Amino acid sequence: MAKSVKITHCSFCGKSQKQVRKIFAGPKGVSICDNCVYICHTLLDREEPSSVEDPCLHFHLAKPKGIKAKLDAYIIGQDHAKKVLSVAVYNHYKRLLQKQQQAAPVLYDEVTIEKSNVLLIGPTGTGKTLMARTLAEELQVPFAIADATTLTEAGYVGEDVENIVLSLVQAADFDLRKAECGIVYVDEIDKIGRKTENVSITRDVSGEGVQQALLKILEGAVCNIPPKGGRKHPNQEYLKVDTTNILFICGGAFVGLDQLIKDRLSLKMSGFQLNQDPHQREPDEDSNILWEIQPEDLSHYGMIPEFVGRLPVISILDELTKEDLECVLCDTKNSLLKQYAKLLAMEGTKLNFTRGAISALAEQAFKMKTGARALRALLEKIMLELMYKLPSLKEVSAVTINRAVVEKRSQPKLKYQRQNAA
Ligand code: ADP
Repeated sequence: MAKSVKITHCSFCGKSQKQVRKIFAGPKGVSICDNCVYICHTLLDREEPSSVEDPCLHFHLAKPKGIKAKLDAYIIGQDHAKKVLSVAVYNHYKRLLQKQQQAAPVLYDEVTIEKSNVLLIGPTGTGKTLMARTLAEELQVPFAIADATTLTEAGYVGEDVENIVLSLVQAADFDLRKAECGIVYVDEIDKIGRKTENVSITRDVSGEGVQQALLKILEGAVCNIPPKGGRKHPNQEYLKVDTTNILFICGGAFVGLDQLIKDRLSLKMSGFQLNQDPHQREPDEDSNILWEIQPEDLSHYGMIPEFVGRLPVISILDELTKEDLECVLCDTKNSLLKQYAKLLAMEGTKLNFTRGAISALAEQAFKMKTGARALRALLEKIMLELMYKLPSLKEVSAVTINRAVVEKRSQPKLKYQRQNAA
């Protein structure tokens, strides 16, 4: 009797041996063709973990695109700053991973990747602090905010620079290893500019002195932190915190810096007329002149060159437009309107903001020139009376706020459940 020829089929796509290049037979009659192997391989590649998590590393590192996606969910506009920060943060923490993973082959053994602290320049209320905070959340690292204006050189009235590190240690619940991978945002960094470009005879304890003190922790130093904060005194036990791996993000409005840049560029331009350099062009009138920044401009502004050198990554944040402010109100993951909607939903009430109301709020906030900061204050005023009365009112199913309410020409419109039933 002739033996029947068994045609093997791929158990995944069903194609026969004749239709494919190769079929791999597994146990119990299961087979897979080369095509399906390839597809599975591609799928596995795509699922390659988008982040690295190591329990002993105290941070969660997504790829730059993933980091930016997180920033996009919470921050409107500022695309360049988000990209710059995503890459800077990724490289910073990747560098820490490399240090930790001793088993991994060390490439470019002789090269050390320097820490890239970041400088964010932009008007108030444009998202500098929010960006730093969101990054820390994404990375799951401790985060602290410091105000440069409260700092003074050690030994003078004011806060010691090391207290910044203490805040981070506190944010890490005194887990020093965690704190040493944290992020610090230093606000109002422009306010510690040297008062004059000439060396002064009197000590500049709130300007250059603070820059010198900050420089040490920015570069990386082992700080002795009084665990309870305050001033140091002898016979006290100190916490030793290494700041080498702490990422510092400094931010400031740098009012007047644009003029310094303009002056430098126009000086160059006048030189150009003499030299006829064909590549030199006049800056575009509409573009933000701050994009033309060079480290020397920061030195002219009053930052000491060593300090500028420790902030190699610079990004500019643009003023928020009226349209941006509308998006801040409605579109971010945690937008102000969503927050109010949630509060009202807890009372069983739906909150409706008309397009007109949103537009009027953005217009008013834009005029106040404090970026998105003004939105919260404006909304608080509009919502106060309502938030006060609503919990005592029965059966309000919806509240509508229109332009007239925002412009104080009318009261919010309430809809009662009985009206619904009718
Ligand atoms: P800055 O540090 O630039 O002065 P903040 O980050 O503190 O400003 O912003 C103040 C508030 O305004 C934030 O809490 C946030 O709600 C809102 N905000 C500012 N800029 C943005 C933005 N680009 N996208 C979303 N919200 C923003």
